Amino acid sequence: MAPVTPGRIPHVDLKAQHATIRQEINDAIQRVLDNAQFILGPEVQALEKEIAAYCGARFAVGVASGTDALILSLRACGIGPGDEVITTCFSFFATAEAILAVGAIPVFVDIELDTYNLDPALVGQAVTPKTKAILPVHLYGHPASMDPILSIAKHHGLRVIEDCAQAIGAAQGGKRCGAFGDAAAFSFFPTKNLGAYGDGGMVVTDNPEIAETVRILRAHGSRRKYHHDALGTNSRLDELQAAILRVKLRHIDVWNETRRRLAKAYGDAFSKSGLDTVKHPIERPGAHAIYHLYTVRLRDRDRIQALLAEKGIGTQVAYPKTMPAQPALKDLKSAVQSFPQGELASREVLSLPLYPELPAEAIDLVVAAIQNALEDTLASA
Ligand SMILES: *Cc1c(COP(=O)(O)O)cnc(C)c1O
Repeated sequence: MAPVTPGRIPHVDLKAQHATIRQEINDAIQRVLDNAQFILGPEVQALEKEIAAYCGARFAVGVASGTDALILSLRACGIGPGDEVITTCFSFFATAEAILAVGAIPVFVDIELDTYNLDPALVGQAVTPKTKAILPVHLYGHPASMDPILSIAKHHGLRVIEDCAQAIGAAQGGKRCGAFGDAAAFSFFPTKNLGAYGDGGMVVTDNPEIAETVRILRAHGSRRKYHHDALGTNSRLDELQAAILRVKLRHIDVWNETRRRLAKAYGDAFSKSGLDTVKHPIERPGAHAIYHLYTVRLRDRDRIQALLAEKGIGTQVAYPKTMPAQPALKDLKSAVQSFPQGELASREVLSLPLYPELPAEAIDLVVAAIQNALEDTLASA
């Protein structure tokens, strides 16, 4: 087997992707520069239509980031001070931050270890008279269990806001993430499956009032220039990013399929090597995951990660702490609870190199390196 040379297998490689679409991107950028309309022009409008159609929803509204997409979705759903929002304990910090940004209170629930998504069995128990919404995250690109979540929401009259930052193109039962809840927030952060060349986000919804409210809020509460009906913000997706995203949207299905193929190759390589101490990701029946991250779970994670780094294999820990364990949330009442599954995940998860341009040979090298690292760790124990 070829030696793994230092720096050879990065965790993600945006340059490799750019190289495959360089001309298309240059053409798109040139079109915007020549048009010289940089904010809320034809590219954003076209992208909004394309993303809505892609998700199987009626409306999409471009905003400045995934975080803003969450904040504006919450506001448009009428979530505000004193309201409780039930969410997972294990996600990127923006999920909780957005809830707090609108003055609401995140109520964290533990996850299911097999998909790392919020455990629907715990959601019902977390409902109180103050609960206004459930905010599931489709973590790593695997859909959360939407059926039970939606039925709890219906039973209690709650809003559902999907955090789709990691899940563009993921589906459950043939329905795409973003089409389940009252509103959904997408992120176009550069490393997401559909990444801009800067920040960007999108709110997707079937509800015309939510769409219209987000449209107004993203532009200073204004429908008409210099007339302000609400206190909004400045949160617009710009034309350059929209033009770039329209190019990349044409490739997203092929890229997501390639990620799925590489994920399967990892799974096969782990099975073949008999490394059953490494828990690799599964897909629930009916789920179509898009592997924003390929995340395994193993004991002695930090040591394995360091040994892989020595061999030039880039990995990532998403996330080393649950959200309620973050210092910024130490004063929250619900943060003092324990979340055994989420805490276990935060100690053991490791995301391996995965991006559509990753050469298939790299998979065997990574798995062999993990096997060596595990043997080293055992030998020194
Ligand atoms: C990336 C991400 C966000 C935030 O998106 P930004 O575009 O970086 O603001 C929110 N939630 C999750 C789960 C994310 O992965």
